[in-house]
Amino acid sequence: MRGAVTDPYTPESGDPRYAVHRYALDLGYTPRTNRLSGTAELHVEVLRPTAELRLDLVGLQLGSVRVDGRPHRQVKQGPRALRIRFDRELDAGQRLVLEIAYSGRPSPRRSAWGRIGWEELENGALVAAQPTGAPSWFPCNDRIDDRARYAIRFTTDREFFVAASGVPGPVKARGGKRSWSFELDVPTATYLVAMHVGGYAASPLPLSERDASRVGRLVTPAAQAKRTLRAYAPVPRMMDLFEEWFGPYPQNDLTIVVTEEELEIPLESQGMVTFGVNHNAPAEQRLIAHELAHQWFGNSVGIAAWRDIWLNEGFACYAEWVWSDASGGPSIAAEAAAHHARLARLPQDLLLGDPGPKDMFDDRVYKRGALLLEALRRTIGAVAFRRLLREWATANRHRLVGTAQFIALAESLSAEPLDALWRAWLREPRLPQLPPLPPPAP
Ligand SMILES: [Zn+2]
Repeated sequence: MRGAVTDPYTPESGDPRYAVHRYALDLGYTPRTNRLSGTAELHVEVLRPTAELRLDLVGLQLGSVRVDGRPHRQVKQGPRALRIRFDRELDAGQRLVLEIAYSGRPSPRRSAWGRIGWEELENGALVAAQPTGAPSWFPCNDRIDDRARYAIRFTTDREFFVAASGVPGPVKARGGKRSWSFELDVPTATYLVAMHVGGYAASPLPLSERDASRVGRLVTPAAQAKRTLRAYAPVPRMMDLFEEWFGPYPQNDLTIVVTEEELEIPLESQGMVTFGVNHNAPAEQRLIAHELAHQWFGNSVGIAAWRDIWLNEGFACYAEWVWSDASGGPSIAAEAAAHHARLARLPQDLLLGDPGPKDMFDDRVYKRGALLLEALRRTIGAVAFRRLLREWATANRHRLVGTAQFIALAESLSAEPLDALWRAWLREPRLPQLPPLPPPAP
């Protein structure tokens, strides 16, 4: 499912000539000066013969490069990327270890979707990388279809708490510093690796009402911990509900970070969700459901091309309705009707199956994606629909997918052909009517 070319939605990012299997980041950071320095070790596999590898890196200065342990001087740094050149063509299948030393004062990069990436805060920093912000803090092959494992060691002033994507390891203190380590042992797209540095503390966060042994962590400033724990009290019920619907939780752990500051939108990353303090309100429960659902859809089941973003966002929005229905709020059908009515009043000028880079995070993509799923439920029936969602999430756990695969799976579970449904919802801009609700079962 890996693409042979650069993603047309992010044409300036990534190199299709190689894949990264593992990143080992060993970074030091001084919050007061926002200075980052360290090394990134990339274990790469060459995918096609080439005499050059391109690594995305934005706003940071290259120190030195080693290839398989030896200093390598044929390197050029441009504003968006490093180009590592070789005397002879590398063969497809060849494996190399690239060690990149770099440093600088990281900042968000400008993009068509605003300023994304490493962001300095009043008291610390965070990373919000979707879709192309990862190179603002480490050199990478910034492709949505290049999923790697990560080991992160992050050293900073001892008064700061560090949370990153991955299972946390021991914290080591030395002098005025502490080193934090994280192992992210599931294939992960670069944009889904997050980092938080702040005046935080961690509290245990129950992840299941059925199984008390399952505990994640809530990371937030100590002063707001009590209120935050209350706001996230529905998490165990949500996790149980989503496991019923989508199959076993696909990540090794879960960290919820609630920052000291307000954030415009919450952010999903692998095994981690980030909210602003402004999301600590009961009315924001749908956002918790949305971001948790991304652990299945987007983070585990991952799209190979940004064009298919509806497979992430439509499913996460549908999960909001599933939670609403199960927790005493409006039913799935009522949510669908309300959102359909709202979309019907907005311009109908984008294609869900290929919205274009500018509109890929447009709310109309998100909600129309969820409405497509509701149309599918009403067409194939609730039983087949539940089977479809569960099989989609479990059979594609930590795999790359595309819309064609979803269509094939849905059709294998449907008694009738679905061509008209796909055409109307995915390939035509006009908003289709929702099919009528099937009569309730006797
Ligand atoms: Zn989302």
